[in-house]
Amino acid sequence: MLPVIVPVGGAAADAAVPLSFAMGAHYRLCMTENLSADRPSFVTHLECSLTGERYRADRLHGLSKAGRPLLVRYDLDAVRGAVTRDALSARPTDLWRWRELLPVRRTDSIVSLGEIETPLVPIPASAGRRVLVKDEGRLPTGSFKARGLVMAVTMARELGITRIAMPTNGNAGAALAAYASRCGIETIIFAPAETPEVNVREIAAQGARVYRVNGQIDECGALVAKGAAEGLWFDFSTLKEPYRIEGKKTMGLELAAQSGWRLPAAIFYPTGGGTGLIGMWKAFDELEALGWIGPERPRMYAVQASGCAPIVRAFEANVEHAERWENAATVAAGIRVPRAVGDFLILRAVRASGGRAIAVDDDAILQAVDDAARRDGLLLCPEGGATLAAYRVAVRDGLVGDDDDVVLFNCATGLKYPMPEAANWLDKNGAIDLASL
Ligand SMILES: *Cc1c(COP(=O)(O)O)cnc(C)c1O
Repeated sequence: MLPVIVPVGGAAADAAVPLSFAMGAHYRLCMTENLSADRPSFVTHLECSLTGERYRADRLHGLSKAGRPLLVRYDLDAVRGAVTRDALSARPTDLWRWRELLPVRRTDSIVSLGEIETPLVPIPASAGRRVLVKDEGRLPTGSFKARGLVMAVTMARELGITRIAMPTNGNAGAALAAYASRCGIETIIFAPAETPEVNVREIAAQGARVYRVNGQIDECGALVAKGAAEGLWFDFSTLKEPYRIEGKKTMGLELAAQSGWRLPAAIFYPTGGGTGLIGMWKAFDELEALGWIGPERPRMYAVQASGCAPIVRAFEANVEHAERWENAATVAAGIRVPRAVGDFLILRAVRASGGRAIAVDDDAILQAVDDAARRDGLLLCPEGGATLAAYRVAVRDGLVGDDDDVVLFNCATGLKYPMPEAANWLDKNGAIDLASL
């Protein structure tokens, strides 16, 4: 059977076309090679992250009965028999090269916008020669939310979901809108008052119905939960459906492959709901079970803004769960998350890794963004700037040394965010002293 994709939603949604009509040559290569048509998935079951209770695969699931995130489990022995590290390394480098470690069963469920492997970019002038930025701003919709949402929407489609609602600080809503509209799934999105204007507009432009709410993201989440309880839609909140984490874990898989199957000494991750941090930690365990990496792990640094730092407070108080952060405020909207349903999973991973949770203030964030742009030519998003600011704190406090390889995550393109004004005008009809410019 030929792999097929389905063109942009609406009336054409059931008119499957051969891949070759729909995509460029490069992408055709990736998809046909990385996604042979219907194949067995290696998923065995889902598991409650708190109690370990098992749930059946291929069913609609939200949170577990204990109200906690569900984790997808695979038959890793069978994966080890099906693919070698070298065979995987020889595949095209997009997200679908990891297919054996992903939950999708049917190739024609996949709703793709071209999920490339993101580069590791050195920023020697602003951070030193051992530091690389994993630049997630290159992904579809300009943020790493694409990794999670391409997987979650693909699974929603596979499981027959037709209407989704989600709270968002911006980028998740944009990624959901894009992928869902592409396959004809309806989306309703709730954004806190302080969501960046560009995000609200890109969500609307990509076919979702988006509403600003006079509250924080967890209060938007409460509206989504209420509608879901009334049967109006499926709840796509962070970690309340099981597949976003599987998409986000590809950051960890990719990092291992890009680093020659040797992980860095430290990872700095801007932490809101923590999906990426939890996902990478899961990825490392799966890679070790496959025998593709050893038991060494990076120290995981969960980075938050000092105006919204519930995980940092819980880390420092040595407790398992984080209390809600009141009056949350920071320029880094993506990490303005007062309460995270996966708090204990973030804290466990950070502690088990020997890392820390670090808070940085908005001035340090903006300074870091300015430095990386001005000195290294890399325009970070504010959350990416937060990781550079936290790295500087870690160096100052002796947590990372000169010999440590460090990876910072820049989770969205800096182009989405307001930049300082640069309004210099010249009068073409007047006398211009060009040598003085
Ligand atoms: C969502 C988001 C984050 C936080 O990611 P989590 O994995 O949910 O913690 C960080 N930065 C940006 C730009 C985001 O959009």
